[in-house]
Amino acid sequence: MSLFENPIIKKINEKYSVIWALNHALAVMGWDSETYMPKRGVEERAKARATLSVLRRKLILDPELVSLVERAKKEENLNDYEKGVVRVLDREISINRKLPEKLVYELSKTSQEAISVWVEAKRTDDFKKFEPYLERLVSLSREVAEKLGYEKHPYNALLDLYEEGLTVDDMDFVFNNMIPRLKKMLDKILSENLFPSKHPLEDIKYEREALEKVDKEILDLLEYPWDRARIDVSEHPFTIGIAVNDVRITTRFEGIDFKRNIYAVIHEFGHATYELQIDPRLEGTPIGEAVSSGIHESQSRFWENIIGRSKEFVALVKPIFDKHLGFTKSYSEEEIFKYVNTVRPSLIRVDADEVTYNFHIYLRYEIEKKLIAEELSVKEVPEVWNDMMDKLLGVRPKSYREGVLQDIHWSMGSFGYFPTYTLGNVVSAQVKDVLEKKFKTSLGTLVSERRFNDIKEALKELIHKWGSTYSPKKLLERALGETYNPEHFLNYIEEKYIKKV
Ligand code: MG
Repeated sequence: MSLFENPIIKKINEKYSVIWALNHALAVMGWDSETYMPKRGVEERAKARATLSVLRRKLILDPELVSLVERAKKEENLNDYEKGVVRVLDREISINRKLPEKLVYELSKTSQEAISVWVEAKRTDDFKKFEPYLERLVSLSREVAEKLGYEKHPYNALLDLYEEGLTVDDMDFVFNNMIPRLKKMLDKILSENLFPSKHPLEDIKYEREALEKVDKEILDLLEYPWDRARIDVSEHPFTIGIAVNDVRITTRFEGIDFKRNIYAVIHEFGHATYELQIDPRLEGTPIGEAVSSGIHESQSRFWENIIGRSKEFVALVKPIFDKHLGFTKSYSEEEIFKYVNTVRPSLIRVDADEVTYNFHIYLRYEIEKKLIAEELSVKEVPEVWNDMMDKLLGVRPKSYREGVLQDIHWSMGSFGYFPTYTLGNVVSAQVKDVLEKKFKTSLGTLVSERRFNDIKEALKELIHKWGSTYSPKKLLERALGETYNPEHFLNYIEEKYIKKV
């Protein structure tokens, strides 16, 4: 049975099917660019994608579609799905209308240049080279915020682009409650040596072919549907949902410290599972997509950390490691558990563990917030960065490469994206508590019993199947009974890293 009854909504969905097809094509092109495209195809591909993006904008702002949405806004008795269609399109139309084409073009052109300058600046450890581009991108992002409009804080306009409805107040609440308590726990874990900060397995090299077999067996264990999904190799692991029956993840093989590969795979598996479990009846409509970056990240973090780094999961995969890697045989389950859960204050965000990760995001959040509000100048950023690292984690970058130049995000003009990583961690622990209540048992028990399909089914009912029917906050309220609450994450960390030791 169709979920859509209202004749205006039906017309909207019909019109939208062209935009959906364009999204589909853009997704395949994006995936191909990161995986199998010949190197020299990059220029024409960039041109083709940019052209299709302009076309997409035109289709979104098509007067007929806009007037249908305006009419639908006045309809009474729309069901939740129909209301979702109106909400999602109204938002997209409004964002596209408020941002002048010239500004969008300027931002994308500047960031394309900035990315290659950033690569070079990082390689030569030269912040001065990147500085003028960062200035320009910050000022363009401020302009974006002004055009979009905001209440209270200009950064709110940018946060909302990645996480609908997210505000500085939300993030301040999360970090103000999280950082002091997390800092105390980190100090205790380190001073009492509750978890190792280094492990010998981190220095062991592996054969790529052997680890590929491990990945495949882990995905089999998690019942990854190979007829609807695949795995490939790319420079940076990612997931792309091309359609509900065509979802693709990637990973990379660095040749050393195999947990880095394994947990990237499980992370992307979490993203993929979300995409695979959206209600197929929403396919082709404006609400047939995952709702936000933060909710998406909560799903990847849930599988990577809460499931994947648990004792019970390690017990399940240890025989797989032993079978294909061999060198793990001389380590006990307990040792492997410690290996995948080292706690180490480090300079690099992407290498950070569960306990230290959010400090990296807090630092970036504070800097972005101040940059956008003109309370901090780009020139001051490296020093502020280093001081904060020192204060939060007790380590100080000796180079720009290990500090302000480490991430690609700012060169892409993506101000407002980083906080969604912390939201992912926060929400993943909320999900854990809700599932344990629902199943009346611990997730560890479910993992031991290999009830991965039951876990997936529960996630589908709570979050996945809805696509973008509800806004992120509404979805969380319905599924978890509250929005972003760091308490669950803090309790999870305390339980795992302090109480249970
Ligand atoms: Mg992710």
